[in-house]
Amino acid sequence: MKTSQGVTRITNGRLIDGTGAAPIGNAVVILKDGKILYAGAAAGAPIVPSDATHVDARGGTILPGLVEAHFHPTYFNVAELADLDVKYPVEFVTILASVNAKLALECGYTAARSGGSLHNIDVWLKKAIEEDLIPGPRLAASGREICGAGGLMDWNPEHMKLGMEGLILLINGPEEGRKAVRKLVKDGAEWIKTYPTGDAAAPDSADHHTLCMTFEEMAAVVSEAHNFRRKVTGHCRANQGIKNALRAGFDCLEHGTFMDSEALDLLLTRDVPVVPALYFELASIERGPGFGMPQAVVDGHKETLEGGAESARMILKAGGRLGMGGDYGFAWNPHGDYAKELTFFVNYVGLTPLEVLTCATKTGAEIMGRGHEIGTVEPGKLADLLIVDGDVLADISLLEDRSRFLAVMQGGVIKAGRLA
Ligand SMILES: [Zn+2]
Repeated sequence: MKTSQGVTRITNGRLIDGTGAAPIGNAVVILKDGKILYAGAAAGAPIVPSDATHVDARGGTILPGLVEAHFHPTYFNVAELADLDVKYPVEFVTILASVNAKLALECGYTAARSGGSLHNIDVWLKKAIEEDLIPGPRLAASGREICGAGGLMDWNPEHMKLGMEGLILLINGPEEGRKAVRKLVKDGAEWIKTYPTGDAAAPDSADHHTLCMTFEEMAAVVSEAHNFRRKVTGHCRANQGIKNALRAGFDCLEHGTFMDSEALDLLLTRDVPVVPALYFELASIERGPGFGMPQAVVDGHKETLEGGAESARMILKAGGRLGMGGDYGFAWNPHGDYAKELTFFVNYVGLTPLEVLTCATKTGAEIMGRGHEIGTVEPGKLADLLIVDGDVLADISLLEDRSRFLAVMQGGVIKAGRLA
């Protein structure tokens, strides 16, 4: 991805650097050749050359570009399981993924970690973004997702002939888990996404207290993935599934919904980050019935919402790490609403705006394995920045309103916003 050339000076803004440090009023950020040279008080800023580019933050907020830590660019208006398999051909899904990637960047998300992909599209989407063929977040790519046969992604009866081949590699036993990982590695996946547990979406056959992969299958997936230096994450709601995943060596947990103190201890011992993706639950409760969601499923989402909020508070209070990502791409939780997750964590879960922004920037970059390059506004890092017209700490929902963005920058290049 191309970076800006020469020196850029950003002034007249309040800096939130993403580390969790207190904001700096009247800050100056200086960029050189796409990287951050200085970020701090105006008084200490170095002199810039007379031909430097000047960006006026107009009294607004300067912060790191946001990181969507559970991104499904290939999911689009999903209302039932079949929509993740037979709804569109690969040709159209590829185009949709490119549209969603552009939208995410325009929404201030300069980086994203894929949470699973139809048809291995995310690997190639990442390449197209990195080569500046299309706009989008810097991606960490997952491939198709691994699930135990009969599990959360395989509960439709046989006569429906829904193989889920577009999205899922179904496994029976550890050896098939190893085989699935080898296939994903060969095709370029950086993250191996799995389904260790069930979900409220399938209450009859795989509810959110159910396990969908055995410990032996999970351990085999992890050992094979780590052999190839790939990372493993999984859809983990049930308490026992969370413990199995942590004992098997998972690198991240998606959701981490129902956790007891033993699960928390296992999590903290290995400092494994969790991406709760919780606004999805509220969206399911509020809008799911309009898309035909049965009441039993809505009730399951209510239990998931409460359990997930409790676990998220517990994790952060105990010193654990949370990423902000929202599983967008469902009919009731569409692409473009990404920042609703952040507002939700302030208003419903009770985190402070500064805590949420640290989760949405620094921790997101760490989950991607790129914490040394992006995620905070510090010297030496890539200038992936968001400049917002207004005080984001006073009203975090400003991040939901793209019309308030002055600039969305990647490597110092303004890609979106009013100054683009
Ligand atoms: Zn997901």
